[in-house]
Amino acid sequence: MRRLAMVRDTGPMWSDGIDTWYAAHGRHDLPWRQTTDPWAVLVSELMLQQTSVARVLPRWERFVRRWPDPVSCASAPLDAVLREWQGLGYPRRARWLWLIAGRVSEGGWPPGEDGLRTLPGVGRYTARALLAFSDIGADAGSPPPCDVNIGRVAARAALGREPHELAPSVLDRTIAGGRPHTLRVRDYAYAMFDVGAIHCRATPRCHSCALEAVCALRGNGTPVARRRAAPPYRGSLRELRGTILAAALADMQRHGAALVEAGMHVPGATGERCLEAVSGLIADGLLDPGRAVDPGAASSAEVTAAVAAPSRR
Ligand code: SF4
Repeated sequence: MRRLAMVRDTGPMWSDGIDTWYAAHGRHDLPWRQTTDPWAVLVSELMLQQTSVARVLPRWERFVRRWPDPVSCASAPLDAVLREWQGLGYPRRARWLWLIAGRVSEGGWPPGEDGLRTLPGVGRYTARALLAFSDIGADAGSPPPCDVNIGRVAARAALGREPHELAPSVLDRTIAGGRPHTLRVRDYAYAMFDVGAIHCRATPRCHSCALEAVCALRGNGTPVARRRAAPPYRGSLRELRGTILAAALADMQRHGAALVEAGMHVPGATGERCLEAVSGLIADGLLDPGRAVDPGAASSAEVTAAVAAPSRR
């Protein structure tokens, strides 16, 4: 019979034990957990969105050492920030950071979740993470953030389901209702991250999981592997975009056709795909056909003209 999560008068049953497990096994030494500075927290959050902890560790330290606050980052040229970001992937995150640095250095951090969500690239998760992990959210009483890991742990442990089977509002309520009174929102979110990273991965490792004794999914039997294969990077549009942007950053004089030429070394590249990659980089504000990287002035029509001939190769 399906074991359902229950809420007791004394506390939420599905998260019982997560506080003591976190105290003993949490990843307390992650450097971005040692700070409540909103800029340092934001840099870590944007880096971690699509890059692993192991790869982010040295890069976060280097980034915040080079640009320790929004003012210093805003005064750097965008191409310097993009170069610093190289190797982390998804460079639009670097541009968002740079744009946010400009906004915050002029007007300060906008207040509350709604205010933070007006910043470039900041959605509900990142806004809540900033409020939970940094001192701009002190005493704000904001709800815990919900990312893929936290959502997966809560959906499985509380309801015996996968997060995509639940409405976001149900997931939000479940997560908020699961916080033990012994943990602040900050530590609760970190504890959930850690259960998700160490045990409740796409393919769960239930043995010795903090929630094994109370988990609704585990109560239904051994959970099945649910991993979906990630699309290959080799030959993808992502690789093409990364190659073209790297060529632009390496030589600021390169123009559209020369950038397409660089892209043609990627397996499976065609002129049309290179054009798509260049146009996408321009649309994302990462590339300018005139100076290769310049955040504002690019026009897709100019690029189309510049690469029209190579696109027919
Ligand atoms: S017991 Fe298994 S399914 Fe439940 S939270 Fe832990 S790892 Fe996830």
